[in-house]
Amino acid sequence: MKLEQRGREGQEPSSALTVDIDENAGFCAGVARAIALAEGALAKGRLASIGPVIHNPAEVVRLQQKGLLTIPQEEVESCDPRTLGVRRVLIRSHGVSESLRARLAEAGLEVVDGTCPIVRRVQQLVKDYCARGYRVVVFGKKDHPEVLGLVGHCPQGAVVVGSLEEAGKIAPGPPTVLVAQTTAPEARFHEVAAALRRRLPSLEVFNTTCRSVSRRQESIAAFARAHDVVVFVGGKESSNSRQLFDICQQNNKRSFWVESADEVQAGWFGPGEAVGITGGASTPRWLLERVASHVAHVARTCGHEKHIKGGSAE
Ligand code: SF4
Repeated sequence: MKLEQRGREGQEPSSALTVDIDENAGFCAGVARAIALAEGALAKGRLASIGPVIHNPAEVVRLQQKGLLTIPQEEVESCDPRTLGVRRVLIRSHGVSESLRARLAEAGLEVVDGTCPIVRRVQQLVKDYCARGYRVVVFGKKDHPEVLGLVGHCPQGAVVVGSLEEAGKIAPGPPTVLVAQTTAPEARFHEVAAALRRRLPSLEVFNTTCRSVSRRQESIAAFARAHDVVVFVGGKESSNSRQLFDICQQNNKRSFWVESADEVQAGWFGPGEAVGITGGASTPRWLLERVASHVAHVARTCGHEKHIKGGSAE
């Protein structure tokens, strides 16, 4: 989608500014599915999400306004689910541990299961390998809800490594399988796998990073290079947004990260520049469009000021 912020009448054509929304940005399939399930369930009554449904505050507020409650996951983990005061709960796309799923069922709560099918397959994979006596190693962030859910499918526990250094501490021992958090950086995963294989020759490796994430990484790099300025829209708590923003910065030094339209600054843009608006897998399309409109508005003001300062305004 392109919005063109043309100069005012009589202004030089070179001052026209283009605002371009990345056509590949927006929810990944797993997040889109969880949000659609939440909205469908909300139409039938009260619903509480176990943890924020998505790492994007603006989208969380939009769903709150439709009636979605959020209960911190730690609270749900540490209490009797019967005392939560709700009859229906939403599992977000990251999934949950087997024990929490069982406790929700025992408490008689209706579960709207937004676990991404790809994450569900990884949960099943680690569960199966655990049952066969394997040591499970997960490459990812220790406190990420998806990783906690994966570990929670291994009754004997699992080892989480977030770096090559941590992987280096894994001692030779039982048969071992390596998987990844779906949003982990794929190149790092391969480095960890190669390092572990040198010490554990029988290591079994499953690259469970999500293809939609790696495809986004490739396309966002090209998008960042194709624009003079990049405005990246994403929740500051989102690890997927952090990775994608880093790629934008590596490919375009003039990349700026905002959570909302009001963080956009006029000084980021110059006359005649091409501005790219993009975001993470948890950034809703409506928010990208809102930021694009705001950039066009800010740039109009900015261009007007430059003309006054440069003495070329009408
Ligand atoms: S990034 Fe991939 S695995 Fe994760 S929720 Fe989205 S589609 Fe599912």
